Amino acid sequence: MELILASNNEKKLKELREILTGMGHTVRSQREAGLDFVVEETGRTFLENARLKARAVVDITGQAAIADDSGLMVEALDGAPGVDSAYYGGDNCKTDQDRFTYLLHQMEGEQNRRAKFVSTIVCIFPDGREMIAQGEWHGELLYAPQGDGGFGYDPIFYVPELEQTAAELSSEQKNRLSHRGKALQEFKKKWEKEYVDQ
Ligand code: IMP
Repeated sequence: MELILASNNEKKLKELREILTGMGHTVRSQREAGLDFVVEETGRTFLENARLKARAVVDITGQAAIADDSGLMVEALDGAPGVDSAYYGGDNCKTDQDRFTYLLHQMEGEQNRRAKFVSTIVCIFPDGREMIAQGEWHGELLYAPQGDGGFGYDPIFYVPELEQTAAELSSEQKNRLSHRGKALQEFKKKWEKEYVDQ
């Protein structure tokens, strides 16, 4: 089935595309579908924001759209930056590096480094049906960045079982372990079980 990926984040698109094409779907990004807009993420949960992004694309194109809303939740910061991960630190933080540096600053002196990435995926079909899947990835925050792959907070997210940061993993390793990879695996299972030809 052709799905439109409701995102403008190129790195995230690459991960979603790798996994969804592996499932046999044809995927086009929002930009490839000629849509040039950014949806304001006004929701207070990952689910609300993923819905807003997918719904905007379905309403305009009449085609099925899939969106991921994701973020990093740090235990010692009561789950922050959470849904605000992409905007953490406000106007003073313009790049991923600014944001993870700001986060490390917030964590100075903190011994509890436990954190998790969360991804909620929503696929909305033209008839209004929804398919929702979620994934989590547990790890620890380092004190300084390591590695230059991935995106976002990957350089400071340490994966104990591999003794590497998310930014040091190959894309295959990250897709297998990550919150987004797990959400997509759940999505795949639901699709195979529940999807009836539209
Ligand atoms: P949103 O889903 O567009 O709101 O953005 C999620 C934000 O969470 C990204 O901009 C990153 O800062 C962060 N994030 C989500 N997934 C990942 C990941 O796989 N690695 C690193 N950071 C991530």
